[in-house]
Amino acid sequence: MKLVIKNALIYDGGGSRPFSGTVVCVDGIIKLVAGGSLAVPAGQVYDARGLALTPGFIDAHSHSDISILAAPEAAGKISQGITTEIIGNCGLSVYPVTKHNREHLQEFYRSYNVEISWTDLNGYRAELARRRPAADIVPLSGHNTLRAALCGYGKHRLSNGELRQLQALLAADFDQGAAGLSTGLLYVPGKFADFSELSGLLTTVARYDRVYTTHLRSEGNLLLESVNETLAAARQAGLKRVHLSHLKVAGAANWHKIDELLILLEAAQNAGFELTADRYPYTESLTQLSTMLPEPYSDLDDLTLTKTLQNDSDFARVETVLKALPAERWQTVRLVAAAGHEYERFYGQSLAAAAAALNQHPATLSAEILRAGAAGAAAAFQGMNEANLRRLIRLDTVACGTDESARPADYSLGRSHPRGFGSTARFCNILREEGLPPEQIIRRLTSLPAQIFRLPGKGRIKAGYAADLVLLDPDEFSDTATFAAPHQLTRGIRRVWRRGELIYSGS
Ligand SMILES: [Zn+2]
Repeated sequence: MKLVIKNALIYDGGGSRPFSGTVVCVDGIIKLVAGGSLAVPAGQVYDARGLALTPGFIDAHSHSDISILAAPEAAGKISQGITTEIIGNCGLSVYPVTKHNREHLQEFYRSYNVEISWTDLNGYRAELARRRPAADIVPLSGHNTLRAALCGYGKHRLSNGELRQLQALLAADFDQGAAGLSTGLLYVPGKFADFSELSGLLTTVARYDRVYTTHLRSEGNLLLESVNETLAAARQAGLKRVHLSHLKVAGAANWHKIDELLILLEAAQNAGFELTADRYPYTESLTQLSTMLPEPYSDLDDLTLTKTLQNDSDFARVETVLKALPAERWQTVRLVAAAGHEYERFYGQSLAAAAAALNQHPATLSAEILRAGAAGAAAAFQGMNEANLRRLIRLDTVACGTDESARPADYSLGRSHPRGFGSTARFCNILREEGLPPEQIIRRLTSLPAQIFRLPGKGRIKAGYAADLVLLDPDEFSDTATFAAPHQLTRGIRRVWRRGELIYSGS
């Protein structure tokens, strides 16, 4: 099958100046890229005059692991030009699966109604192939899932023997094609990992020459310490390839740390680390509502927390600790998802507003939402500022990552953060406002993530590369998704092809 796109302004993804020309693709591979006009061979021909042609975007940070099985059309991703997604982030892969973590994973993803029937990455991949997802999926191995597969979600320090078993599980994921290891050191049970567990695992990552991606232990109060912990563990393991997930400075009291953070990153790069990061271009994060809880509840996995909250005295205790939070805090937390349908009308609203409508204290409402199902309760937290966002994404080692799962256009599988539909355009437009040349901006969504995750044949418009292509109108390219209407499509994306096949036509 032949695809010809002529008269396009071609951005090759590598950062070179764009040029007007023709791209010829055969059987899903780019065969010819030529400047100027060309006698166009017969086939499927698009005249792309006035439009820009870029490589398909690579989502450096996706959580589509299960949602892509439930909604393989991946509307939220492909409509913003994404043709490849890196999954298994933040320690949360959906393999390996054992009796120790199956129930938890099934519950965590309950809203998608997908049976977790596989036991390893190969099994997951076979299920993926059956569902024929619109985007290509590149898997990481998730530390939380690996650890839970070995010894569950409890607070537990690994013995030397267990560490060796964990390394063997990681090696098995690598043998099955995982592109790297991810950690989520904020979450249970990843947070129970000490330095020797981390450096021990990174030894395996180094041996396989894969990348280590990390949701840092702290992104706020202990941000710099967490970056240092990461670098020290990598140094001890002899690992150079380190990638910081959704890099941010969380919490107003920490915003000033940006200067020190940038110095630290530059020093690490100068010391020989291939240190990279991804970021979604918004100042509100989205994660489990349960992350608001202090100890000892923060040491419980969501399933155990839900069970614990059925007990009235525990419920009262959680309500009390939440009531101790500063009152203004509730205005900065939005409810995005909850178990069941009872709270649906409050999605997108702050917990302060929802609680006022119910004539309740927000702490009581939050405890009730967690009791109904902590695994299904997600909230957006306002903890970042725009100036720091801009300084971080200006760094030429920062790729665009949505930190979201692929969603259908409707709300049948719940609501996403607007980043699930608007990240790529927003990322580009912020950098455009910052004065970066467009070819450098496109590089951040294409060849940079391809380099970070070592994706041969992806991220460039070049002969021999995959015919993953985005045709867009640079003047119209803009995001429209908001918290009130998070599944609004990005404007200006005209066509998206994956391996030469048209997968999206926009207006
Ligand atoms: Zn994360």
